Amino acid sequence: MTMVLKRGEDVADQVHRPVPLLNVDQLCIDIGARNASVRIVDKVSFTLGKGERVALVGESGSGKSVTAQALMRLNPRVRLSGRVDFDGADLLQLSAGQMAALRGSRIGMVFQDPMSSLDPLMTIGDQVAETLRIRGIGRQEARRRALEVLDELKVERAVERLESYPHEFSGGMRQRVVLAMALVGEPDLLIADEPTTALDVRVQERVLDLLDEISRRRGLAVLLITHDMGIVAGFADRVMVMYSGRIVEENEAAQLFREPQHPYTRGLLEAVPRADRTVDRLPSINGAPPLPSSRPKGCHFHPRCDRATGVCSAETPGETFTPLGGRVRCHLYGAG
Ligand code: SF4
Repeated sequence: MTMVLKRGEDVADQVHRPVPLLNVDQLCIDIGARNASVRIVDKVSFTLGKGERVALVGESGSGKSVTAQALMRLNPRVRLSGRVDFDGADLLQLSAGQMAALRGSRIGMVFQDPMSSLDPLMTIGDQVAETLRIRGIGRQEARRRALEVLDELKVERAVERLESYPHEFSGGMRQRVVLAMALVGEPDLLIADEPTTALDVRVQERVLDLLDEISRRRGLAVLLITHDMGIVAGFADRVMVMYSGRIVEENEAAQLFREPQHPYTRGLLEAVPRADRTVDRLPSINGAPPLPSSRPKGCHFHPRCDRATGVCSAETPGETFTPLGGRVRCHLYGAG
């Protein structure tokens, strides 16, 4: 059974949420000259509550990283429209100065490659303390708080390490330093874009466990951007699956893992290695996501979908609110 939304009804409003911190409404991201622009992200809407951990998952090219950058207004080459309300302010309307003040204070961000965020010529202590120094906090106090957050992230011999340089750290430790830089300003929201992709599996687990512990202790909301469904299960409260610039499914993490609705979500989950299943070769979804400039008509997933029918290549599926508590964008679920 599916419940079809009435026109103008917002599906996100019908899913239970904690107190909203971030409310993204009909976010569109376009690139290129206005008369020949290409839409990379198309009318993406979602909310993130205070202290909630939400994963935005999809293959490379799905639009998830560009969405994360748009929330922080980090990419000057794109045009943004829609609304991005953060604690009552529309981030798309703030001045560059107001946006810069928010970054590193109320909103922290971590990227995949820690080396791109670290200055090889600055000590770790100075880099972690920098956000606080910019906010006018004295050197001693900023160093004390940098030390505190490095301790919180279980960086061994943190006092000594304040004087070290990035090249003296392992990949896992560098990522903890980058996390420390994002967390030292005590943000309400952390956007983590593939924060563990460059790390080996054991280090990856340790970094995610730490992030899990800190987000629970601090009541920190986390938007985790990843292509890896495998790391989402133990971390996220809720999962949004993105394909070709649109969110195609969203639900509580446990429910989405138990009963994925969208054929793309199912494909992603089948590709995750499982301890209770031995296979010679993991299944994978045929083909690759389309480029934003050459997306197929109708459902963008139809050339790769084993459940596609005639309507799929002709009509864009709308969003349907399901009795499982989530939303899905697929003709199998009734909304046209
Ligand atoms: Fe597959 Fe059609 Fe659903 Fe798209 S709308 S996911 S092609 S069944």
